[in-house]
Amino acid sequence: MEEDGDIKATPKGFHCTLCNVNLPNEPSLDQHVKGRKHKTLSTVRATRKAQEEHSVFVSGIKPEISETDVAEYFQQFGEVSDVIMDKDKGVYAIVQFSETDGVQATLSRVEHLMKGLKLRVKSREKKEFKLIPKKKNDFQNLQQALDRLKPQLCQLPSVDAQMQFILERFQLGENEKKARGLLVQLLQEVFVEFFPESQILQFGSSVNTFGIHSCDLDLFLDLENTKVFQARAKPTTEQAGEGMSDDGRSEDSILSDIDISTASPAEVLELVAAILRRCVPSVHKVHVVSSARLPVVKFHHRELNLQGDITLNNRLAVRNTRFLQLCSGVEERLRPLVYTIRYWARQKQLAGNPSGAGPLLNNYALTLLIIFFLQNCEPPVLPTVDQLKHMACEEEECVIEGWNCTFPSQPIAVPLSKNKQDLCTLLAGFFSFYAKFDFASSVISVREGRALPITDFLVHNKEEQAMEEEEPTKSPHHGPKLGPLNLLDPFELSHNVAGNLNERSHRSFQRECQDAEKYCRSLQYQRKSTKGKSWGLVRLFTPHGEVAQTKTEQLSISIPFKSASLPEGLRNQLHMAGDGFRLLWFQKVCSAVEGVFQSVLRCHLTPSTDAVFGEVTAEGMVTTSASLNTSLNDSYDSVESQIEASPLGTAVLGAKRPLSSGSDTSVSPQGKKPRLAKRGKPELPHWICVLKHIVWAGRRKVRRELSKDTDTRPEGSCVDLESQVTAHIIEKEPELKEPLEVEVQAQMVGGTESTKAVLLFEPTSDQTGVFQDFFHFLEAFLPKMVETLLEKDVGSA
Ligand code: ATP
Ligand code: MG
Repeated sequence: MEEDGDIKATPKGFHCTLCNVNLPNEPSLDQHVKGRKHKTLSTVRATRKAQEEHSVFVSGIKPEISETDVAEYFQQFGEVSDVIMDKDKGVYAIVQFSETDGVQATLSRVEHLMKGLKLRVKSREKKEFKLIPKKKNDFQNLQQALDRLKPQLCQLPSVDAQMQFILERFQLGENEKKARGLLVQLLQEVFVEFFPESQILQFGSSVNTFGIHSCDLDLFLDLENTKVFQARAKPTTEQAGEGMSDDGRSEDSILSDIDISTASPAEVLELVAAILRRCVPSVHKVHVVSSARLPVVKFHHRELNLQGDITLNNRLAVRNTRFLQLCSGVEERLRPLVYTIRYWARQKQLAGNPSGAGPLLNNYALTLLIIFFLQNCEPPVLPTVDQLKHMACEEEECVIEGWNCTFPSQPIAVPLSKNKQDLCTLLAGFFSFYAKFDFASSVISVREGRALPITDFLVHNKEEQAMEEEEPTKSPHHGPKLGPLNLLDPFELSHNVAGNLNERSHRSFQRECQDAEKYCRSLQYQRKSTKGKSWGLVRLFTPHGEVAQTKTEQLSISIPFKSASLPEGLRNQLHMAGDGFRLLWFQKVCSAVEGVFQSVLRCHLTPSTDAVFGEVTAEGMVTTSASLNTSLNDSYDSVESQIEASPLGTAVLGAKRPLSSGSDTSVSPQGKKPRLAKRGKPELPHWICVLKHIVWAGRRKVRRELSKDTDTRPEGSCVDLESQVTAHIIEKEPELKEPLEVEVQAQMVGGTESTKAVLLFEPTSDQTGVFQDFFHFLEAFLPKMVETLLEKDVGSA
C-alpha cells in the first residue's frame, strides 16, 4: 500500500513523512491517514507522478517557436495533451502525452529535427515529492513585501498620504488595463467564431476600480444571443443551404456538436476549454472547475502572466461590478480605504483565498463590509442600495433573475455626502466598528444599510432548507446559508457572500479588528516619527503569528452563538423570542453547562442560590445572571412567561430591576449609541464544582473500548456514551487525594459585541495541581458537549 511507505514507526509513535507530522498512537495515525491533508497530498503526488511519466523534457528551442509548433511536431509520436513552455528564456518545453506510449516513441527516436532546429529530448527527472511548509514562507513574503514599502511610507507626512500611496502603488495601471482589454478582444473574436453572436464581458476587480497588478481576469461568456441564433437556424433545416449540415448548424461552427439551450454548463465549459486550448495563443493550464458555486474555466496567459476565469450565467456579477464602480464614482474616499484595508487583510492573512475557494474572506466580501461601514457612519458616507434605487430613473431599472438591481448609471445622480471625515479617521472607524460588531446575531444588509436580526432568518432558513431537500429544483429563492459572518449580497438577497467563512477565520477577522482599533488609538498611528521609526500604516500592516492569549482569556471558555448549527426546535423558539433571544439562549446554555458537569462528568455541583436573570438593554447589551435551578427539561413556555418588555424595550427575566446605564459616545454597529449597563458588582450565575476523580484523563481509550468500534462518533457528540465513559473512569480509577474545587461563573455577552456565553473558571482548591489539565480538557469538550445537549434538550422539549 502506498501509504505504508510514508509511515515510519518512531520511539514516540509514528511519523508521516509525506505530511511531516508526528502521531502518538495508532488511532491518531488511522485518523490522519483517512484525513483530508494526507489524502490531498497523496492525490497531488500521484498526479505529479503520472504527469512525469507521461511527459518528456525538450530543450534546444528558440523563442520564436510557439506551443502549437511543438505540439504539432510531437503529435507524430502520440496524442499531446499539454505543452508547457519556458517562454521567457525560450529554451525548453515539457511535452505531455495522453498515453505513456508517446513518451517511449519519442525517446526511441535518435534525432529530433523541428523547423531546422535540433532538439534534445530526455525523460523527466524523478523528483521526490516534498511538502513545503507554506505558512512560514507566506509570513516571510509578507514581511519582505512590507519591508520594501516601509521607507516610502514612513517618510510621507500623514496617514491620508500613506493611504493614497497604497492606492497608487497597487492599482492597475493604464497599460495593464489596455493589455487586458486586448486579450478580451482577442477572446471575443475567437469565441464569436464558435458561438455566433456571443459576447464576452469583463467583471470583477479588473474593471470594478479596485484591481491590483496581479488580480485575475474575470470574464462572463454571454451565450443568450447564441441560443437565439441557434434556435433561428433550426427551422431552416429543411432548406439546408450551403455550408449547413443536416441539422441546420454551421459546419464550421462548434455548434454542430452541441445544442447550447439544452447542454449542461459543464458541457459548454468543456467546449470553452477546448477552444481556449486550441485557438488562443499563449493560453495554457486550462481546466474546468465544475464543483464551484458557479462552474468556471480557469486558464493562465503566459505573456501577461495573468490568471483568467470564464463563467456562464453570471449577469449578477457583472451588475454588482457596476455597483462597485458607481460607489467609487460617488465617493472618492472609497478607493484608498479599500486598497488599504485589502492590503491590511492580506498581511494578516484574513482575505484572499489563494485557490479561489477557502475559508477566508474574499475581496468582494471585504469591499462590501467597507461599504456597509460607510453606510453606517454618522453622517453616512455612502447611501444604502435601497436609497440608490430611488435615485435611478426609469430607463435604469434593472431586474436580474428576479432580483432588483436598479441604481443610477452615473455618480452625478447621487448627492454628495455631508460626512467630511478624513481617511485616517475613517480607517480607524472601520476597525472600531467591526471590533465591536455583534456578528453572531446579525445579518448585514448593504441593501438596507443596517444589521438585520438573525432571528428573522432562523425559521425561514430551516423551512426552505427542508423544501430544498425535498425538491431542490423548485425552491426559487432560498434563505442565505448562515455562518459566523452573514453578509447579504446587495442584489441576490438569498446569498451570503461570506458563507464560506469558518469560525476560525471569522474570529481572526474580529480579533485583528480589535488589535487594529487599539493601535489606531495610539500616537504612533497618527503622528509621524521624527526618529525614523515605523508609524501609521507600517505598524498596522506588520504581519504577526499567533496572538498570545491574555490571562483572563486563558481561564475562560466561550460558547459562541452559532445560528447555523442550532437545532430546528431551538431556532423556532429563538425566532419567537425576538429581541429577547439572547437571554433565552443563554438560559439554555446554562442548563446545558449544568448538564455537562452533573450528568456527564459526574461532578458535585453547588449552584448559586441567587435565582435572578439579568437584563437586556434596549440596544441588546445583556448583562445577566441566570436562574440556576433550570433543568434540562425546561420548556420554552416557562421562560417566555418570564420575559417582559419594559417601556424601554428592556427584557427582564425573573426579577424586575431598574436599569442603571452609563453613556458611551462611540457609534454602535447598529448606528445607535450603546448605553452599557453599569452596575456595582454584577450578580453572575456561578457554580462550585467538585471533582473527586480525574474524569478527563484517558477518555478516548475508554470510549473506544465501550463503543467497541460500533460507534465511531467523535468526542462530545453522545451524552449517554460520555456519561458511561465517566462512570467507567470513576469505577476503575482511584480517588484524588484532595478533591479539585473550581468556581465557574457564567456571563452573557452580546449586543455591542459578538453574542456568546463566557464561562470563567477559578480553582478554589487544587492541592493536587490538576486544575490546568482539567481546564485544558474542558476547552474542547465543554462547547461540543453543550452543543449536543442543546440539541437533546430541544428534541425532548
Ligand atoms: P480579486 O480578483 O482581486 O480578488 P474580485 O473582486 O475580482 O477581486 P473575485 O473573487 O475574482 O474577486 O470575484 C470576481 C467577482 O465575482 C466579484 O467582483 C463579484 O462581482 C463576484 N463575486 C465574487 N465572490 C462573490 C460572492 N461570494 N458572491 C457573489 N458574487 C461574488
Ligand atoms: Mg477577480
